[in-house]
This record gives sequence, structure tokens and C-alpha cells, in this order.
Amino acid sequence: MVTLPKEMKRYCPHCDSHQTHIVKEDTKRSTSAMSKKHRKNQRKIDKGYGSFPFEDPSHRSRGRKNPTSEKKDLKLKCKECGKSHKPNDQIRAAKFNIE
Ligand SMILES: [Zn+2]
Repeated sequence: MVTLPKEMKRYCPHCDSHQTHIVKEDTKRSTSAMSKKHRKNQRKIDKGYGSFPFEDPSHRSRGRKNPTSEKKDLKLKCKECGKSHKPNDQIRAAKFNIE
């Protein structure tokens, strides 16, 4: 469990100086079903080649244990200029909350 502070003092590329930022979790937008990326993947699944699509998830990770943690997308909003950006160093955690 990783706890992050609500406000952090980080470098703002827009102000070109260190400012206090509001930390938020970046929510992923749902991708459209007709996107090129999705169509290409669907073509692969329908047709199939080699060992694709993979059935066993452990096979995909080459016998290794599947990681439960994932890289979290954070959004930093500058208090000075109001613009937001992503941090360069993303954290990796199974669970995390912002206090
Ligand atoms: Zn700024």
C-alpha cells in the first residue's frame, strides 16, 4: 500500500520552476471499438497465428509469476498556472491512495 500526499512540490515545465502541485489519479478514457489499434488486434484474434491468442496467462509471461502491481498514471496540476502534466517517474504499486 502506497500513500501519496495531496499536494507535492514538483518542477512545472510551463512555469519553468518548482511549484506546489495537486496530485490526482489519471482516469483512462474508454477506447472506441472502431479504432485502428482495436481493429488490428481483433483481426489477429479472429484469424490467429502461431500461438496467438494466448490462452494461459502464465504462458504470456514466460512461466514467471504474473505481477499484481501495475504502473499508476498520475496527474500533477500546477497551482500557479493551472496546467497539468504527467510526472517523469511513475510509481509501481498494487494499491495506492492519495491523502
Ligand atoms: Zn505551472
